[in-house]
Amino acid sequence: MDKYASANKTYDPLTQIKDRTSFVIDSQKYVAQGVHAHIILVQLSQLLRINRKYGILVCDKLIFHIAQYLQALDSGYEAYRIANSRLVLLGPECSLEQANARIAQIRERFETPWTVSHDHHTYAISTKAYFIHLFMELCDNENDLMDKMNHAISVFPSKEKDGIVFFDQEINADMRHLKYIMEELRYAIDHKTFHMYYQPIYDCHEKKFTSAESLIRLNGRDGTFISPGEFIPMAEDTGLIDGISWIVLEKVCHFLGSHPDLPLKTVSINMTGQQILDPSFIKRVKDSLEKNHLDGSRLRIEITERTIIEDFAEVKKVMEYLSGIGIHFYLDDFGTGYSNLSSMFSLPFEVIKFDQSLMRTINDTSKALKTIGLLADIMHENEYYIVAEGIETEVQAKTANECRLDRIQGYYFSKPLPEDKLVEFLKENS
Ligand code: C2E
Ligand code: MG
Ligand code: MG
Repeated sequence: MDKYASANKTYDPLTQIKDRTSFVIDSQKYVAQGVHAHIILVQLSQLLRINRKYGILVCDKLIFHIAQYLQALDSGYEAYRIANSRLVLLGPECSLEQANARIAQIRERFETPWTVSHDHHTYAISTKAYFIHLFMELCDNENDLMDKMNHAISVFPSKEKDGIVFFDQEINADMRHLKYIMEELRYAIDHKTFHMYYQPIYDCHEKKFTSAESLIRLNGRDGTFISPGEFIPMAEDTGLIDGISWIVLEKVCHFLGSHPDLPLKTVSINMTGQQILDPSFIKRVKDSLEKNHLDGSRLRIEITERTIIEDFAEVKKVMEYLSGIGIHFYLDDFGTGYSNLSSMFSLPFEVIKFDQSLMRTINDTSKALKTIGLLADIMHENEYYIVAEGIETEVQAKTANECRLDRIQGYYFSKPLPEDKLVEFLKENS
């Protein structure tokens, strides 16, 4: 008797098929034998709607019927319920054609309603499921297997073809890459190995560089550059953004404090709306300023509308408090898919930053040029300043000027620079 046969298999009480513990034991058996088992993950959707419409007991019976159907499908496969709406079939090594045929058969069954009887009524309920193919040759162990199933679910919308995600080498490589970034991110937070770069911002009225935006830079331990466009969204999703923002705040204040003669009125840092609601936020900002003998008026905070997801009233309170000590706020990325006018109207922003995608439209049509000019006029009437982001050419810089935008940021003047290079740049350009 092998060591797995003696392990206790457990069952899901609702569906009477095996549960997640049994799945782990059985899949480990295949891994140990080096057999490339085939896994079909069936993710049920619309259960919430069914719960609301028919009640929880009917929904439970529906899941029972689906589980029983899967269990009876093929004697070579075993069915498991590994989470509320997640059922799994685990079967022997098979060809791709056989695997596809098996999924096609299950999908076809989902096209006709399930008959569920409860309390003297019979219901015909339609439900949807999506499917994930996974061949176990790609899995190192059972933890890895669970990670891969979770990853496949998370990439579902972007990778599905016809309701199916095929967990292949490409998804495996993506997953390894994301894992690499997460490891480097955690290391960089623990060891504070991020670098801050600064992009000078030109003031069209004063005709000189009067501010800069701080932008974080991360190199993996192997020297690979990891773009903030890639790791910041991951840090936001996983909550690691908090640790990053405190490091950024510290580094920027330290830089400003150690260059008292820097000819910049302000430097801005990027933060999320969520972070502003952190109970320690105000204290941390004040502590960093005090420690580096800085006045609040040197600091600006950029936030995007996308990250202000709740509690506008509370965000507003914090913004008003900090504005009172000279720290004003920029609304970042205005004109992207995420922005609308609601946070601009309800929160006290000093500056609106027109996103580079909006600025690019200026090149395309005279209508865009006119609209941006009018938008700028309305904003000025409401006492906002405007920064044009992503200006790359002389023509764009001129047009931004014609649209009466107040400040210009972009590669046309300078790419983001490390601290020493920024100091040099400002010396040469002041
Ligand atoms: P953002 O805050 O809108 O920053 C502007 C981005 O545009 C920067 O990209 C900058 O390097 C880039 N950029 C500036 N001028 C040009 C130009 O002329 N052409 C083009 N093509 N790009 C230009 P970066 O540094 O890769 O940062 C991307 C985003 O990552 C930032 O967008 C910001 O949302 C986020 N981010 C960067 N640093 C931090 C940080 O310290 N904390 C947080 N929370 N987010 C950050
Ligand atoms: Mg920004
Ligand atoms: Mg921006």
